[in-house]
Amino acid sequence: MRHEHLLSASQLSREDIETVLDRAAEIEENPAAVQEQYAGRVLGLCFYEPSTRTKMSFDTAMKRLGGQTIDMGPVESSSVKKGETLADTVRVVEGYADALVLRHPKEGSAKMASEFVDVPLINAGDGAGQHPSQTLLDLYTIRENGGLDDITVGIMGDLKYGRTVHSLAEALTNFDVSQHFISPESLRLPRNIRYDLHDAGAQVREHTDLDDILPELDVLYVTRIQRERFPDENEYRQVAGEYQIDDDVLADAKDSLTVMHPLPRVDEIAPEVDETAVATYFEQAHNGVPVRMALLDLLL
Ligand code: ASP
Repeated sequence: MRHEHLLSASQLSREDIETVLDRAAEIEENPAAVQEQYAGRVLGLCFYEPSTRTKMSFDTAMKRLGGQTIDMGPVESSSVKKGETLADTVRVVEGYADALVLRHPKEGSAKMASEFVDVPLINAGDGAGQHPSQTLLDLYTIRENGGLDDITVGIMGDLKYGRTVHSLAEALTNFDVSQHFISPESLRLPRNIRYDLHDAGAQVREHTDLDDILPELDVLYVTRIQRERFPDENEYRQVAGEYQIDDDVLADAKDSLTVMHPLPRVDEIAPEVDETAVATYFEQAHNGVPVRMALLDLLL
């Protein structure tokens, strides 16, 4: 990959994506080959928002490459509390680390921060913006479960505020994928993303009813309503719980359907689905480690 920073999925060409996914597959096959590769190197973790999977899988990935991590810790116990700016914090941390992973509630923050550092910076979620490393593991999971071309993908839930959706939709335009977006009217894909998809020549359809498209889907990517992004709690309540997947809903789906979710789930997928062959979200979360190992390997 020829990128210094990973800020948005729109940076990634098909070739870039395949390079990362192929490297991840190699690492998964033979982890011993890379276990000392980054000994003495340090990854800085700066998370201004909650995270379980992203932070822990980057941490694990760096350690499995022989490297170490340093963690800014919770915002409440960092100098952010004293009023330090993001630009100052990343400039300081780049002096301690060989690469940075940043999650921040403000859209555009990763791009801004990247302008202040020379080490590679990975956007691990900037508000409702982008989450490109999640997309790489999503694509890896789709590829492992039937391939990335000639498929029909349904992306459902909070398409307005869901950064994993924005990144995935943009990345899928590199492949022969028919994309269907299922959401309440108020949580439609933002106009700028729709334009980007249109410009990329993607085949895109929008629906409010999952039943309209479910039987055709090869992949159903379910997302959580992003409660923390709603300016008004009442607006959240109006759409909360609107889309829920359970065994009955899935009765009309293909047997080969792959159900994904970036997690955490709230109530979008009933626990009974976990026991079925279509449930792929825990495998998807586990793929975060080899994919992030590959990404670090390519960026470092
Ligand atoms: N974990 C994902 C993210 O950080 C999805 C979510 O929070 O709903 O964007």
